[in-house]
Amino acid sequence: MLDFLGTHQRTHTCGQLRAADAGQTVTLMGWVNRRRDHGNLIFLDLRDRYGITQIVLDKEISPEGHPKAEHVRPEYVVAAIGKVRLRGADAINPKMETGEIEIAATELLVLNDSKVPPFSPAEPAIANEEVRLKYRYLDLRRQEMQHNVEIRHKIALAVREYLNAQGFYEIETPFLTASTPEGARDYLVPSRVNPGTFYALPQSPQLFKQILMISGLDKYFQIVRCFRDEDLRADRQPEFTQIDLEMTFPQQDTVFAVVEGFMAAAFAAVGIALPTPFPRITYDEAMRQYGIDKPDLRLPGLTDVRAIFTGEQLQTLAIDPALPVVALRIPKVGELSRKERDDNKPLFETKKGAKYIDDLKRLEKSFPDAVAKLRELTQAQPDDLVVIVAGDAATHISASDTKFAGRLSEREIAVLSAAGNFRVELAKKYADRHGAFAVTDSVVQNPGTPGHLADGSLAFRPLWVTDFPMFEHDAETGAWQPAHHPFTSPHEEDMDRLVSDPASVRARYYDIAMNGLELGSGSIRIHRQDIQQQIFRALGISDEEAKKRFGFFLEALQYGTPPHGGIALGLDRIVMILAGAASLREVIAFPKTAKAIDLMVDAPSTVRDQQLRELHIRPVVRS
Ligand code: ASP
Repeated sequence: MLDFLGTHQRTHTCGQLRAADAGQTVTLMGWVNRRRDHGNLIFLDLRDRYGITQIVLDKEISPEGHPKAEHVRPEYVVAAIGKVRLRGADAINPKMETGEIEIAATELLVLNDSKVPPFSPAEPAIANEEVRLKYRYLDLRRQEMQHNVEIRHKIALAVREYLNAQGFYEIETPFLTASTPEGARDYLVPSRVNPGTFYALPQSPQLFKQILMISGLDKYFQIVRCFRDEDLRADRQPEFTQIDLEMTFPQQDTVFAVVEGFMAAAFAAVGIALPTPFPRITYDEAMRQYGIDKPDLRLPGLTDVRAIFTGEQLQTLAIDPALPVVALRIPKVGELSRKERDDNKPLFETKKGAKYIDDLKRLEKSFPDAVAKLRELTQAQPDDLVVIVAGDAATHISASDTKFAGRLSEREIAVLSAAGNFRVELAKKYADRHGAFAVTDSVVQNPGTPGHLADGSLAFRPLWVTDFPMFEHDAETGAWQPAHHPFTSPHEEDMDRLVSDPASVRARYYDIAMNGLELGSGSIRIHRQDIQQQIFRALGISDEEAKKRFGFFLEALQYGTPPHGGIALGLDRIVMILAGAASLREVIAFPKTAKAIDLMVDAPSTVRDQQLRELHIRPVVRS
């Protein structure tokens, strides 16, 4: 039998009462987290967003409440009315914030019952993620998820407050719009009113924010949902949230300073000090030093060890002397057995024209001097894992061999990225041994209290990567692709080589990475229509096509467009880092699975014929 709420009102939350409140009469409401029946005494742990408070139903104090409590089960919703009292010394629970007190209930109202849940929100971890997603409302009751939701809110709020203080306006842009080229597939929405036409959900507000600069709004931001129909991985979702911003008359540094400011504010909001400014590295340097454009600085980078070998030695080892020879080092891995080394083989990408040497003992037998120098150059300690990665003389991958003064060639990049990716994989595999990631976990789990901020300088390693190449060469089609979206400005001094030498053109494009994750990217934009047209042409987009797809924008560019630039950072990813979560799904209230399915609402789903008719659509499902 359920009770009515009547006029009862909650006086305190389940996380609020302390020893100083002893003696007060209170009304708490919440979910039954656990129930312990000791005969005359029944204990209910009552839970809400704020915490857990122990309720005691003593047959003598509450002759009516006690029998009700016998029937109460986990996840029932109850109201407990009674007196706060101090627990006996031996019953104090120092792990609970309310652990010094309990409520001696005089009355218990059972406001609602609950089916036996498929899993208990009282338990910390549930292995089956599908069940968690289907019953997301139960999953969200778990303390860990409540924490993630809370820090997401705090981070978003801190960012808003910071940007507001810097004079940014938050301006909404349409969801029903036309395609924005961010490199993914669009989600399309059929128009009922205009048969046969479609809106695209925005992959980003890119063109709108640029137009807002043309409109003279000077500083725009938006914490905004973006939609990209791509194959999903752990750090991707079909709809995700960006902290998107754009400013008028900025230099790259102006944008960096704003981002550093809101990032520090966001980290401070969860009690972590993030030192600014963030270090910077050019794309080429990132590739040379880390073999990746989103380096994890918590571990040592690559060392150029080309010089340790003579030409003859390289030949004996079948190493291509024209390509980089680098060493990666993972600290404290200890000696690996033959079997362990074999198990690492699949972690190395063989398609990049590179090979590796991880048996240094064997190498040492033939080339003791080289190995001694290798140890010196890489500053390897005896228990560090050191692996040499080099171009494989036997497999020559097809890539443009052209080399521009000071820039890396595609083949060099291939070898470096084989090394960089291997470094990332081995770092993941041996995380327990090198301990570099545990530093982050420990800061995440023990953030400082305000006023005493935990130092994030070792745990969170942000980095700006600048001067990306403007174009990427597609080996298959032979065409040049924009490395970023096509509104990114080239470096002014590289402009004259747009057509003659596209590979050498650098973009005013930057990424921000942290702990091996790309957090965001942006650029200084093209603000001149003539240059925008040249870029479209260089990308093989005809004037006609450009006009059809971006005519409105090319038109707008002709009405006094100021120089402008901006960036977008993934809010979900920032929260994921600060929650110490393994996937984006842990920090999004209602995420989708890797197959882009919402298991709770069961979307996507088929629709009624009538709806399709109205939309002038007839599906033909090819199997
Ligand atoms: N629109 C870009 C993106 O979503 C960000 C930017 O260039 O501001 O990646």
